[in-house]
Amino acid sequence: MNFSNFYDLSYSDLSDFISSNFSLEKKKTSMRTNQIWKFVYKKGLRETSKFSNISSELKYNIEKSFNFNRTNIAEKKISKDGTIKWLLKLSDNNLVETVFIPSGKRGTLCVSSQVGCTLNCKFCHTGTQLMVKNLTTHEIINQILVAKDELNDWGSQKKITNIVYMGMGEPFYNYDNVKKSISILRERNGLDYSAKKITVSTAGISNEIMKAADEIGTYLALSLHAPTDELREKIMPINKKFKIKDLIESCSYYSKINKEKIFLEYVLLKDINDTDSCAQQLVKLMSKFPSKLNLIEFNAWPGVGYEPSDSETVQKFYEKIKKSGHIVTLRKSRGEDILGACGQLKTDSEKKRKSL
Ligand code: SF4
Repeated sequence: MNFSNFYDLSYSDLSDFISSNFSLEKKKTSMRTNQIWKFVYKKGLRETSKFSNISSELKYNIEKSFNFNRTNIAEKKISKDGTIKWLLKLSDNNLVETVFIPSGKRGTLCVSSQVGCTLNCKFCHTGTQLMVKNLTTHEIINQILVAKDELNDWGSQKKITNIVYMGMGEPFYNYDNVKKSISILRERNGLDYSAKKITVSTAGISNEIMKAADEIGTYLALSLHAPTDELREKIMPINKKFKIKDLIESCSYYSKINKEKIFLEYVLLKDINDTDSCAQQLVKLMSKFPSKLNLIEFNAWPGVGYEPSDSETVQKFYEKIKKSGHIVTLRKSRGEDILGACGQLKTDSEKKRKSL
């Protein structure tokens, strides 16, 4: 094993580390692993000196082998609707964004999986920035830890109740680190987020969706945004590689394995994908596998060639889907004033990077 940041370790990595450094019997190894994991992920401790009931030799070994560094906050913005956006500066100076969206008792943290994105969806501001890199496991986990520190969320009543991989990047193009970070989130002795509290959102990487069905098993959101290949290719170039029929096949498989509906994300773009015929085709598509639809208001950004649909069209579109018997929700845009809304992430990172 060659880790230096503790947050790169899975639970079993930590257990292997302890058993390879100390000749403890199996039961004791698992007890020590539990204790340390709890200190780090239940209490948010970063100094081994605060790890109580642990031998000084083990503390020393841990301290010598790992750091518990948090990512620095370069900027923090709070929206008038309570949404908080943190711009985090990684140790290599890359910038990444994390957004907290409170809503009643629910608090959703939207995390990024890459710096930039290769997919270049035409309506998405993030996609206009060149892909810089995949985030490591510890850079993903650090987004959650920093948000927990900031929100003072180390008590038993969680403020961050849900985690969505919907920030910058395509999570399935950083599959291994995303998968490992989810295993850390789900570990019961630590952060303890069940699979039903985590959603991974993909632009539709069909082969990875199939793999994730067997290996990850959280909720899955598909950024659909158009019901036909012809239209989807125009706004989402990834559709040239993975067609709607591939998405139907992989999403059917995913929902069969995890026994939940797939969330379909659909940003309404004026006169592009908000027509009657799109609604009809969408209804047909939705009957191919268990799904529910999230209609999302488009957040315009400078230089984009699309406009948001007007409210009458949005309502009509919504009613049409609803009448068909499918589940549909209309998502209100959050954090728009701080560019923390869907498809707006990354703007600040770009600006910041230029001035660094
Ligand atoms: S919508 Fe998602 S996949 Fe598409 S460019 Fe934006 S971040 Fe990338």
